[in-house]
Amino acid sequence: MSVPRLSCLFCKKDITFSYSEIRETLSSPDENGYICPRCGVVSLHHDTRVHFNQARFSNEDLAAISITLRNDWERKGRGIPTERQNLKFNDLTRIIAQFKPLDPLEMMDNALLNIDRRNDYVGQELSVYAKDDYPYYFCKESNEMRAIIGMLCSEGFLYVENELEGHLNVTITTKGYQRLREIERLNLESKQAFVAMWFNPSMNDAYNFAIEPAVREAISGFHALKIDNKEHIDDINDAIIGEIRRSRFMVCDLTGYRGGVYFEAGFAYGLGLPVIYTCRNDWVHSETLLNAPGYSH
Ligand SMILES: [Zn+2]
Repeated sequence: MSVPRLSCLFCKKDITFSYSEIRETLSSPDENGYICPRCGVVSLHHDTRVHFNQARFSNEDLAAISITLRNDWERKGRGIPTERQNLKFNDLTRIIAQFKPLDPLEMMDNALLNIDRRNDYVGQELSVYAKDDYPYYFCKESNEMRAIIGMLCSEGFLYVENELEGHLNVTITTKGYQRLREIERLNLESKQAFVAMWFNPSMNDAYNFAIEPAVREAISGFHALKIDNKEHIDDINDAIIGEIRRSRFMVCDLTGYRGGVYFEAGFAYGLGLPVIYTCRNDWVHSETLLNAPGYSH
């Protein structure tokens, strides 16, 4: 038994040199370079800790760093760096600025995907360890991860076989596989934004000079798609449904209060796609947004 000699800067986990991984891989682990069971590889530039101590990050900020580091590490196959990557203080502030937390339903989908990624065959028991794996599941603490796993179980997506010393052994159920298929259908690789809006010539400038370039410039590689060959208040055709399904998110302009536009937004919302609402100033009234599917203030 070795005595803890330092704790992780971000998640406060005690780091002991008894972790064989550290001894074998980082030739001289110290407070600036170690493997945290929660955050993965932590490798700091020698100035970072000084600035860090002055910065007084909030718990939210620390969680953002821990979650980002752990997910990067997992994405790289839990690799061990051959040389130190030396996270600078600027890297930490950039991570915090760019971090987007997941909402509970996204956390559930993400957890199911994480578990499925390790699944080799149907019925396999997979061990999840909330105590140290919660940053990988986009959770701020282990209790949050246990709650997410509990929600997956109560939805019938996972079944807990047993629990041994904090390790939950779970299997994916039929419903879980159905949900994985739905997630796949959401087409997370799609670079398309579906634009739902009033097909009136007065709207052309708004599309050509505002919405379309905004989509293209906001996220590299994304493009906007608008199907405007016909009015479709009562005719939501297969092409529209198909293109919404193929999209990653929707921009929905409510100007004109067209029934078709509200329908499309509702359909996208039901699929779980983010819907971004816009409206020309002269059409903005409180009811406009109150009726918009999934809109919240
Ligand atoms: Zn940590």
